[in-house]
Parts: sequence; structure tokens; C-alpha cells
Amino acid sequence: MSFKKIIPLLLVIFLSNSCSKYAATNRSYKKQARALAREIKEQPANTDSTIAPAAWVGTTNFGIRRPNFVIIHHTAQNSCEQTLRTFTLTRTQVSAHYVICRDGTVHHMLNDYLRAWHAGAANWGNVTDVNSVSIGIELDNNGSEPFTETQINSLLMVLKNLKKKYNIPTANFIGHSDIAPSRKVDPSRFFPWQQLAQNGFGNWYDTTNVSLPNNFNAMDALRIIGYKTKDSIAAIKAFKLHFVQQDTLPTINLADEKIIYSLYKKY
Ligand SMILES: [Zn+2]
Repeated sequence: MSFKKIIPLLLVIFLSNSCSKYAATNRSYKKQARALAREIKEQPANTDSTIAPAAWVGTTNFGIRRPNFVIIHHTAQNSCEQTLRTFTLTRTQVSAHYVICRDGTVHHMLNDYLRAWHAGAANWGNVTDVNSVSIGIELDNNGSEPFTETQINSLLMVLKNLKKKYNIPTANFIGHSDIAPSRKVDPSRFFPWQQLAQNGFGNWYDTTNVSLPNNFNAMDALRIIGYKTKDSIAAIKAFKLHFVQQDTLPTINLADEKIIYSLYKKY
């Protein structure tokens, strides 16, 4: 058999193996998607008893809501296979739209229009239901190791497509630790946020060569950027994990204030 014929054959064997392994969960996915489609097709019910029932008139002008944020995570697991398993077990109650492996393989696990369960209790600015407005991306990484270049390249390709397709603002590419400061520390300080920002995903400070206004309040600025600042120590730690990655102190010095000022002016 020629080399050209072997490759598609191997591909079919590989696909059928991976399909059979997840055949049951794939069937479940389709069943759940069909149930949601039925829900969407339903004529709106007038559930407010203070409004008199009226004949229903369906508008002809509508579309589907689109994600407006991307939340980046690390899996804190040891392999992509382990994460695929986690996200296909009902009892875990966690999922993400995309899982990107160390070797750059991208698993698109959920239609972008559907709501994954990746953010948990989270806040960013006035957004309190982050799952409803975001795409969740999990990077296969144990949390204490650098991310591979191949993996980051795949991530950048996925982000490029998402940003274009859904017109996601540059500022809205953020991390799980940003939106859940006291709970989450992913992605870790190994994550290349500056590289992402250079590619148009997330904000970065231009320069530390700035002079602060006399009345500048760094905590107010962090709040305006989006951080929940009720627990100020947690907010500072989250900010540093993203923007001052080598510094683990939960305090803000003058250099940090300048970074925050430079950032906050972009919001
Ligand atoms: Zn996470």
C-alpha cells in the first residue's frame, strides 16, 4: 500500500478508536443539545401574572447571543486525556469549550454558543455570570511548569479566530485568577500574558515611565479595571499573578502603582 493510502487509513483507525471511547458521552452531548434546541424553539410563555395574556406575536428579527469574554485556565492535571475524562464525567460538573494539549492539539468540546461550566463563582466589573458571557479555554498544564511554545501557538490561533468571529474586545481576554481572586491561581505565573497582549489578546502596560496624579488610588484603579477588590490582598495577588509575575508579595509599591495607573488608563 502506498504511503498516501496508509495515512488516511491510520487516521480513520485513530478517529474510530477515539470516537468509540467517548461514544456514550458524545451521544449524551447530542441529546442535551437537542433538548436545548427544543427549549429555544418554544414560544415565549407569559409567566408574569400582572400582565394580561395576549396573542403571541413572534418577531422575525433575531440572532443568537455571542460570547464577549475569553477566560484562560490551566487544568492543574497531568495530561489532556485526564482532562477529557474529567469533562466527560457528569459528576464533576465542570467543562470548558476548548482544551489545548501540550503538543498543541486542540479539542473543541462544546459549541461556542453554549454555556460551559468553567468560571464558577466569579466577578469581573459588573459581570456576575461569567459563564454566560464567556468562552473557557483550558491549557493542559500541572500549574508549576512552563507552557510549551507549541501549546501557546495553538492558543494564539484559537484566540485569533474567536476574537474575529465574535468581535471580542482586546481587554476581555483574561484569566481565571483575575475573575476569582481569592479562589483560583490559574493560569500560573508561567503564563505569557505579555506575549498574548502583544498579539492583541488582553491589555498590557505601555511603560512604567509615568507620573502618578496626587490623588491616585491603586485599589480604585484595580476595581475599574475589573478586579473584585472587597478582599484587597486577594485582588493584589491576582493582579501580580497576571502583570508582575515574579513578585509574590501581596503589597503595592510605587512601581506597581505606576503599572496599575498605566493599565487603568486603557479602561
Ligand atoms: Zn480555572
